[in-house]
Amino acid sequence: VFISFEGCDKAGKSTHIKHISAALEQHGYKVVYVQEPGSTQLGAHIREIVKTCSEPLSAKAELMLFLAARAQLVDTVIRPALTQGCVVLADRFMDSSVAYQGYGRGLDPAFIERCNAFVCDECVPDKTILLIPEGNPHEKFANELVNNEHDRMEREGVEFQQATLAGYHHIAQQYPQRIAIVHTASSKECTFKRVCEALSGLFPC
Ligand code: C5P
Repeated sequence: VFISFEGCDKAGKSTHIKHISAALEQHGYKVVYVQEPGSTQLGAHIREIVKTCSEPLSAKAELMLFLAARAQLVDTVIRPALTQGCVVLADRFMDSSVAYQGYGRGLDPAFIERCNAFVCDECVPDKTILLIPEGNPHEKFANELVNNEHDRMEREGVEFQQATLAGYHHIAQQYPQRIAIVHTASSKECTFKRVCEALSGLFPC
């Protein structure tokens, strides 16, 4: 079973993935967690580049970097793990490229989908959890911006985040069977329950 978690920066993906991962392991599932970009040597290098590169990155170059990281991750980690019967939990996957480089940076979403098809082949998530903070996500993000240190991507600002969030909503409408929108509540337990409900068709949490 392959599940991806998507959402804007600061949506709390990693926290919620940890909870789900622990619950699945308790039920005896073998879980493989992957972060994208990351989780391979190449992916880790690419993560460093996209986060710290000090010259402006061309949108096309940025897209190709994320696609290269994804290709390596699919071929060397995700596909082998699925073949062995593991549950794969991905912190970001193909929808991030459509949302960020497509709707955020203005590249053609349809072209990015074709690139994703080339890179992923049959490795498409069975379910995608799209985490959206309850209330005003942009306000939350703007506050985080004031309060914390940031890498290149996070410095993009609220407008860019708004465009990617709108993109995510668009993608969710396109793939209603695969993508479940989960609004993150202030209580982690409540969000966990919502994620479990969204995954209940795949296994009992
Ligand atoms: O969520 P995480 O911190 O792992 O993502 C790394 C950064 O890369 C984030 O700031 C995210 O906005 C960005 N990203 C992107 N396009 C992708 C995947 C991630 O711009 N396809």
